Amino acid sequence: MPNMDPVKCPMPVQPADVRNKNFDEVALGYTHEMAVTEAQRCLQCRHKPCVNGCPVNIDIPGFIAKVAEDDLPGAYEVLSRQTSLPAVCGRVCPQETQCEQLCVRGIKHQPVGIGRLERYVADWQRTNSSKAPKKPVPNGRKVAVIGAGPAGLTAAGDLAKLGYEVTIYEALHKTGGVLVYGIPEFRLPKAIVQYEVDGLEKLGVNVQTNMVIGKVLTIDELFEMGNQAVFIGSGAGLPRFMGIPGESLKGVYSANEFLTRINLMQAWKEDSHTPIVRAKRVAVVGGGNVAMDAARCAKRLGAEQVYIVYRRGMEEMPARQEEVEHAEEEGIIFKTLTNPKEVLGDENGQVTGMVCVKCELGEPDASGRRSPVEIEGSEFTLEIDAMIMSIGTSPNPLILSTTPGLEANRWGCLVTKGESGETSRQGVYAGGDAVTGAATVILAMGAGKSAAAAIDEYLQNK
Ligand code: FAD
Ligand code: SF4
Ligand code: SF4
Repeated sequence: MPNMDPVKCPMPVQPADVRNKNFDEVALGYTHEMAVTEAQRCLQCRHKPCVNGCPVNIDIPGFIAKVAEDDLPGAYEVLSRQTSLPAVCGRVCPQETQCEQLCVRGIKHQPVGIGRLERYVADWQRTNSSKAPKKPVPNGRKVAVIGAGPAGLTAAGDLAKLGYEVTIYEALHKTGGVLVYGIPEFRLPKAIVQYEVDGLEKLGVNVQTNMVIGKVLTIDELFEMGNQAVFIGSGAGLPRFMGIPGESLKGVYSANEFLTRINLMQAWKEDSHTPIVRAKRVAVVGGGNVAMDAARCAKRLGAEQVYIVYRRGMEEMPARQEEVEHAEEEGIIFKTLTNPKEVLGDENGQVTGMVCVKCELGEPDASGRRSPVEIEGSEFTLEIDAMIMSIGTSPNPLILSTTPGLEANRWGCLVTKGESGETSRQGVYAGGDAVTGAATVILAMGAGKSAAAAIDEYLQNK
């Protein structure tokens, strides 16, 4: 008999007033008993609607049945047929709009905690299995992968398993892309990402860091070095600003810079070599996951007031509901229906405030969300010492500008032929945020997988 409890087995978390002062993981993970209890809520639907909500089509009832039977190696085996990053996706996938949104248990009550179970199985495997991956038989062909984010890591792993000699070229000094420089430690511990990268190296993937393709080497040079195909997984790391007066004042950051300093450079540590100014009043402009991460980091660095300034309402916020709830619990102040107009500074060029205008919601725009309409005469000043712009990113144009024959759209995203990731340049494939613009980990991973299969097909036929 399935467990008909209407609610998910709750996830143990650090108390809000403790966790908003440390960078340790917020969600502590299920115990074995909790995982089995939650797995028993799955009805094992024959038509598997939840699977249609997963971009990589994980056999969700299949792995959950194994958890319910207490067969954790079996559960991991089912997961690993479709995903190479289950510990990551179980933590950061927007499950509520993907697999869990289609779960039949969610029609009347709460859906099965698919993400929580995926995380449980992946964590169990990481701490209990010491099996080294079998080294594939080399097929004598070389492929270069640009970028060590989820798209590049997945493409590299799949190609290495097929026997290709794969080298990843990563611009930063650490691998993992946004998983290490963007998403904070309290949502995704970096040791988990490192474990995945170590696994790739054991498979024989060669990882070269501090290699900015377009500067140190070009794509043409990668071909001259004997690579027969190249995968571009360089993400969308170029921040956008609003173009309002005062954005170049001291104390105005892009969310990317702020989060990179904290996560990658570990500026939150007392003995950090690259410390960051610890402001008392911080405004984060934007309403996505990136804005929530920046606001929660600012709070953990000791800010007394942290504002999320967002021009639409709470319902229109693109951030994951769980992240918004966690931010509210941690004391972040939401100033919705508010749009910044100007950043104010003192005689030293340091930010002191922000002029904002109140908004109301008008007609829906192209995205289907109601547009903010500024209310005349509603301007007010918010006193702040730092401002973090989190209104989106686009791909860095470096690779495009140094690679003849590559096509991009008007947002700078590489143009590819459907799922194969094939670009306008023969032998060059692309996927992840570099193609879609800022999206999700699982979509980037799925793109890396499809491109690896397409590269294999191309080279087999060559
Ligand atoms: P990236 O992860 O950006 O990796 C690209 C890599 O390429 C980087 O390491 C970069 O240094 C490298 N690179 C760039 N240019 C070059 C070059 N010229 N030469 C060599 N290397 C290069 N998604 C979710 O699903 N859930 C979340 O909760 C979530 N939260 C997020 C929070 C933040 C703060 C951010 C910024 C993003 C978040 N996302 C989230 C989005 C998700 O992380 C991205 O969609 C995903 O990482 C994209 O993967 P990618 O491999 O395409 O690119
Ligand atoms: Fe759900 Fe993401 Fe796991 Fe797919 S990868 S089953 S969408 S949590
Ligand atoms: Fe289980 Fe929900 Fe999927 Fe049905 S839809 S198989 S209950 S996870």
